[in-house]
Amino acid sequence: MHELSYATSMLDTIINAVKEQEKDGKKIKKVSEINLEVGELTFINIEQLKFAFEVIAEGTICENAKINVQFIKPLAVCKDCGYEGNVKAEDEFEIYCPNCNSMNLKFKGGKEFNIKNIVVEFDE
Ligand SMILES: [Zn+2]
Repeated sequence: MHELSYATSMLDTIINAVKEQEKDGKKIKKVSEINLEVGELTFINIEQLKFAFEVIAEGTICENAKINVQFIKPLAVCKDCGYEGNVKAEDEFEIYCPNCNSMNLKFKGGKEFNIKNIVVEFDE
């Protein structure tokens, strides 16, 4: 499952970031929120991602963390007519230029999967 691999890499990245922050001597009790930036061209099913994350995060510092997602619209350049801008991405294999209907597009954005930031609670 596509979403499980994203969830696994998310968890690894966050756990490493937490360890890095704890080097200052502060102890992080839990990760309460995770803010993601997801490009629409990743075709990630957010519900499945949340579910997969919930399962693998059980027993870790990320257990019960709330996941917030900000979507990034795809930005394409048409190699046929020169159109540059947002395109609709309903299906991974059928993305057309809104100007000339060509599929000869180059993408500049929309495949992002970034952890923008996380909200943590410190141990008192
Ligand atoms: Zn075009």
